[in-house]
Amino acid sequence: MNYNCIFKPQSYTRRRHNQIPIRIHVKNIEIGGDALTIFAGPCAIESEAQLFEIAKSVKEYGATILRGGAFKPRTSPDEFQGLGVEGLKLLRKVGDAFDIPVVTEILDPRDVELVNTYTDIFQIGTRNMQNFSLLTEIGRTNKPVILKRGMSATIREWICATRYITKGGNNQIIMCERGIRTFEDATRYTLALDAVPLLKSQIEFPIIVDPSHATGHASLVPAMSKASLACGADGLMIDVHCDPKNALCDGPQALIPSEFKTLMIELTTIANAMGRSIAHNIQK
Ligand code: PEP
Ligand code: MN
Repeated sequence: MNYNCIFKPQSYTRRRHNQIPIRIHVKNIEIGGDALTIFAGPCAIESEAQLFEIAKSVKEYGATILRGGAFKPRTSPDEFQGLGVEGLKLLRKVGDAFDIPVVTEILDPRDVELVNTYTDIFQIGTRNMQNFSLLTEIGRTNKPVILKRGMSATIREWICATRYITKGGNNQIIMCERGIRTFEDATRYTLALDAVPLLKSQIEFPIIVDPSHATGHASLVPAMSKASLACGADGLMIDVHCDPKNALCDGPQALIPSEFKTLMIELTTIANAMGRSIAHNIQK
């Protein structure tokens, strides 16, 4: 582990020679290898029926990991905050039913043991990228963690956050670019795709992109997904919902299953052009 929080811009241009990309293993899935990892599912777990229906489709269309929030970090305390422990139990149950690993967000360092019981991968969201006590606690586990970029964090700050996790002995980190705050308000955030090749030149962790939270618009997700793979991302995290209009969280950015299916087929060409592979079980 030889990265430095205080790198200079000129060092962005070349991959360091002493870095061997880390591959992360979750059940029979490898993240950071030739096969791309597609995380898909609802923003929030709403009910067993909702999660079951979404999981069935995304698994069928080639998603590798099921995502679903049980603890939701909402801007307003009056918005749906997630099902909590009940949501964690549903995620585990549905993940097991479809034999697909699961990822969920953790908000509070006091919940590490609890969430660890139910999930295969932790997710640290944009609002907690610099919650150093949470990062430290996750660093003491030996479970993979998605570290999303803080919406106002520089790349240096994001890399420094990884060190709070690795210091405890956990180096199974998946970086996730999810958009940053700019003056632009036509999109939810601005998707900073230059982070992908830049991080690849600096650190050894896999990097994925979340075009759903970045753009906030389902119509923009396919193009930005393709762009993400074209610039070297190791995978994508995509919101999928069967009834986006009535979703309890982030409906406007969710693809419906048929759109997800089409996207997975389209992504094959980009994956192949990049010398990568993508799983999908459907015929064109
Ligand atoms: C999420 O993935 O559900 C989420 C809340 O994302 P972010 O932390 O990027 O806003
Ligand atoms: Mn969301």
